[in-house]
Amino acid sequence: TKAYLAAMEAARDLNAYVVEMPEKALEMAAASDAKIAAGEARALEGIPLGIKDLFATEGFHTQAASHILDGFKPAYESTVTSNLWADGAVMLGKLNMDEFAMGSSNETSYYGPVKSPWRKAGSNMALVPGGSSGGSAAAVAARICAGATATDTGGSIRQPAAFTGTVGIKPTYGRCSRWGVVAFASSLDQAGPIARDVRDAAILLKSMASVDLKDTTSVDIEVPDYEASVGQSVKGLKIGIPKEYRLDGMSAEIDGLWQQGIAWLKDAGAEIVDISLPHTKYALPAYYIVAPAEASSNLARYDGVRYGLREKGTDIADMYENSRAAGFGEEVKRRILIGTYVLSAGYYDAYYLKAQKVRTLIKRDFELCFDAGVDAILTPATPSAAFGIGEKAGADPVEMYLNDVFTVTVNMAGLPGIAVPAGLSGEGLPLGLQLIGRPFDEATLFKLGTVIE
Ligand code: GLN
Repeated sequence: TKAYLAAMEAARDLNAYVVEMPEKALEMAAASDAKIAAGEARALEGIPLGIKDLFATEGFHTQAASHILDGFKPAYESTVTSNLWADGAVMLGKLNMDEFAMGSSNETSYYGPVKSPWRKAGSNMALVPGGSSGGSAAAVAARICAGATATDTGGSIRQPAAFTGTVGIKPTYGRCSRWGVVAFASSLDQAGPIARDVRDAAILLKSMASVDLKDTTSVDIEVPDYEASVGQSVKGLKIGIPKEYRLDGMSAEIDGLWQQGIAWLKDAGAEIVDISLPHTKYALPAYYIVAPAEASSNLARYDGVRYGLREKGTDIADMYENSRAAGFGEEVKRRILIGTYVLSAGYYDAYYLKAQKVRTLIKRDFELCFDAGVDAILTPATPSAAFGIGEKAGADPVEMYLNDVFTVTVNMAGLPGIAVPAGLSGEGLPLGLQLIGRPFDEATLFKLGTVIE
């Protein structure tokens, strides 16, 4: 813990942490020392972790990287972090992220962008770590935590993992409790780990996952010993390669990486089959209706009364307006506007209802493949390597949304997906592949992930 605290101090220019908690960390580490001395070490005893600012940490800064939650220190602890502490893990601090987890580059944070520790060969340009769990990914990649919590609504664990050469898994919807995780789009949000390798991700997910009476969408299915899957044979597993993921204009580099992944899995004894997920092209537009719709509803609670920031106003409605105007950033406001629009009486059927129908079709595409015997699906994790800070922000927001093209389908279908580092781009940046599994079959993803990493 001391070594990590020193490393955090030396790496402050990355802006990965929004709050460092040296005192709390040392106190937790001392408690772990006592457990170890007593011969009572638990699964994560003394392991120093970073926590995404989206997770409620009792008595500590929890602001979803937003101005509107200024000063918010919850009186409760999220279930996921409670599980980690119950296994002996140590909290180093809260990690930067896109505001309310809305973004793909960690440039929408109230606390400013996170810098990736990576650079292109021969260049000193600062790169994004991806988002929204950009602080988590950068911190794991820079070795300023041993592992991190993250969340994924449309790719926010897998895309930053791919951009930083780390491993990130979004478990099946319902695997981890959402209780105490600041809500973005409740039917899509899932917590998961970002870690250095597949084994660490397996160990962390085992601890994070649980059924929870406080989240009725969490599911009572046994959480297997994921670590036992690491390195197990993948012989005979059927891996689907969806033709719809070969996008027009896909770079030769990404295609090459995908082919390489196919070859590795084949060499390891897996069977490769071509599959079709015909509704893939509708996933991104449908996601950018469903996610903002739910966000606009979830974010209605930030009114200047119950949490954080309060601005002055001539009456209560004026105070609400002023607080929300000052408290939310531009991307969050855009989502609220889109969400409110697609849910409004005149447009509900045309947009929201239609998007929900599309969601069902996307889910069915996957079900048909799994019913036909496919064990997992291999795709690229992102359409490109990391880009420069400022390179895509502020331009056309759709340009940024396209980053999620390979990841959002998985959230729409509620499936587990893992991003695993698979190689470097021509410019020396990490590139990742994604494996998508059957519901609650994260174990198979850990098996296959070990072959790729
Ligand atoms: N980039 C996507 C968005 O902005 C996904 C975010 C996430 O998974 N939290 O909505």
